[in-house]
Amino acid sequence: MHHSFNQSVEMQLLKYERPNFTPSKPMIKAGKYIRIVSPWIINILSYNDKKVTAMAYWPFILFRHLNYHNIYEIENHELIHHQQQKELLVVPFYLIYFLHFLFSIIRFLNYKKAYYNVCFEKEAYAHEKDFNYLKSRKWGAWFKYL
Ligand SMILES: [Zn+2]
Repeated sequence: MHHSFNQSVEMQLLKYERPNFTPSKPMIKAGKYIRIVSPWIINILSYNDKKVTAMAYWPFILFRHLNYHNIYEIENHELIHHQQQKELLVVPFYLIYFLHFLFSIIRFLNYKKAYYNVCFEKEAYAHEKDFNYLKSRKWGAWFKYL
């Protein structure tokens, strides 16, 4: 998941949006993931959390829309989740994600803090701006964020 918690900054930056702007080739080769752009699917899967910009469900990446100023970072973030999901054979990813989130909610009593504390999110946020990260990333890199 990728959240955008600062909506006012984002609204300002949306002024610079380019129509029909799509993630570019350098990072993404065709067929690397299946792209779905659908605000209503994101709303259903996020329990109507309008701050969710994208979600990774291997082999799909769902986007609310593609006009985010930081669409490349969002895409890279979701691709890091894809790598985590693939190496955990998908289902255990969700189990560990859920348990770490639950543990973090109990620890912080704060949804936002808990979300950012999930090991998979820590890794994805730490490296989403590094477009070479996935080329050199080692298996199980999320483990050190536990
Ligand atoms: Zn995420």
